[in-house]
Amino acid sequence: MTDSNGDGKLEVKQASKEVKESENVAEKYSAMTVKNTDMNVGELSAAFTAVPTHKSVKKQIQFANQEDKQEFSKFPTKAGRRSLSRSISQSSTDSYSSAASYTDSSDDESSPRDKNQVNSKGSSDFCVKNIKQAEFGRREIEIAEQDMSALMALRKRAQGEKPLAGAKIVGCTHITAQTAVLVETLVALGAQCRWTACNIYSTQNEVAAALAESGVAVFAWKGESEDDFWWCIDRCVNTEGWQANMILDDGGDLTHWVYKKYPNVFKKTQGIVEESVTGVHRLYQLSKAGKLCVPAMNVNDSVTKQKFDNLYCCRESILDGLKRTTDVMFGGKQVVVCGYGEVGKGCCMALKALGAIVCITEIDPICALQACMDGFRVVKLNEVIRQMDMVITCTGNKNVVTRDYLDRMKNGCIVCNMGHSNTEIDVASLRTPELTWERVRSQVDHVIWPDGKRVILLAEGRLLNLSCSTVPSFVLSITATTQALALIELYNAPEGRYKQDVYLLPKKMDEYVASLHLPNFDAHLTELSDEQAKYMGLNKNGPFKPNYYRY
Ligand code: NAD
Repeated sequence: MTDSNGDGKLEVKQASKEVKESENVAEKYSAMTVKNTDMNVGELSAAFTAVPTHKSVKKQIQFANQEDKQEFSKFPTKAGRRSLSRSISQSSTDSYSSAASYTDSSDDESSPRDKNQVNSKGSSDFCVKNIKQAEFGRREIEIAEQDMSALMALRKRAQGEKPLAGAKIVGCTHITAQTAVLVETLVALGAQCRWTACNIYSTQNEVAAALAESGVAVFAWKGESEDDFWWCIDRCVNTEGWQANMILDDGGDLTHWVYKKYPNVFKKTQGIVEESVTGVHRLYQLSKAGKLCVPAMNVNDSVTKQKFDNLYCCRESILDGLKRTTDVMFGGKQVVVCGYGEVGKGCCMALKALGAIVCITEIDPICALQACMDGFRVVKLNEVIRQMDMVITCTGNKNVVTRDYLDRMKNGCIVCNMGHSNTEIDVASLRTPELTWERVRSQVDHVIWPDGKRVILLAEGRLLNLSCSTVPSFVLSITATTQALALIELYNAPEGRYKQDVYLLPKKMDEYVASLHLPNFDAHLTELSDEQAKYMGLNKNGPFKPNYYRY
């Protein structure tokens, strides 16, 4: 293995050192048998001791000092990256702007902050668009529950045991029917929850109402302002007689707020569970700087997230997003997909299956070779841009589709993005006087050149599937189950098991999450015989792969 800097040897050494460290930890706990699907929730803590992702930070930090605050503020947050003068949150470009709210109260323009609402039990400890939508939201949640059976199984297994009894979880995630199933699972496992939205556009108002009606202190509505966003987070954290001891975050804004405003909360917090790329990145930075106050679980990089959410979620939702916005027919269409990582692979599978003629652009020879072996032509965007009917970005990079490419596209070309943020297509370069923008549908703009050429831009270059379609409950169930288990593990871990560091979930936990989802397919695992287990050097109950296995 070499690298472009010429210090490939160093990299190899470093990599094998990390593998050894993880194996040692895994070995240490391999004596604890996990009988996959039969495992009792109470056994989880003992069975799943997470793997630290880098050397533990020995030094304990002082809370609430100015230096720490400054250090934390250095890391970009979804909110932090926003210009304060902008009314539209950058977070909406980073993640969901779910199209799934069926009760958009466009007729009701008043701010939920000005309303006095009470649920049927007399509680007013929430702020949602309209509590009267609760019944409808409940039906949405029930539909999601049907495809989130692993979470429902966790609830069943926990009956009478309550592994989260005493846990006070403050959460900041998208508030959708699927997240509501997670929140209500946490409550069923014994936790008290206060919840807010990590994105100003993604809240399903009816679902927020249903959660509020069921007694969860939820502060969220679709179309919050920047000020509302932070107000909601504050109302979740800052409440008399209640102090969080666990944090579940998506993007790091909640963690950032607690760190900035209420650092003392960390004195009682047993851990942070973080799901997003951005939030995890910030946690690693804090840890490396010795500034992380509590143990944190990186759910984003667990196999059950990356290899399912990124791949299958995109495979299932790319066509939906394109169809809902454009009614396009895929058969025979020329499509270029930029980036052949997990997301790109999912998109290509779906497009190919409907008869589109797909080609790929890649910077990485390994991914390019995979694309070739999967039957796709690997091209330079420059070579094909004039013939393409659709251009789809999935790189996580910036300026992949520049104005120059947009100028050369043919009339009617559809341009959209499936990557993390709205940086992949240079949308800003299209906001020039000679081009006319015409909003033809929600999330669909025709950008018109002086000669009449139209390019169809979807969701202004933001995540297509999460802006223009819904995503499958089943895939979210896999991620949500991982989050629930990470919370249980951190909450129940004996003192000293986790330090102020970022941990990856151990393979056994990934395997357990996967096994909980197998009954949905009536899938039956083959069991290793004693002889086979010995031959392979494996425990019969897993883990079945080393940490470096790539799937
Ligand atoms: P990945 O790293 O596996 O794949 C990205 C690929 O893009 C890599 O193979 C990389 O070599 C390639 N690439 C980078 N720059 C390029 C360029 N200029 N031209 C061509 N190829 C280039 O990542 P992934 O898991 O596929 O995720 C991609 C993005 O999608 C990330 O931003 C991620 O956050 C986001 N994501 C979206 C969804 C969704 O539902 N839409 C779900 C998960 C992740």
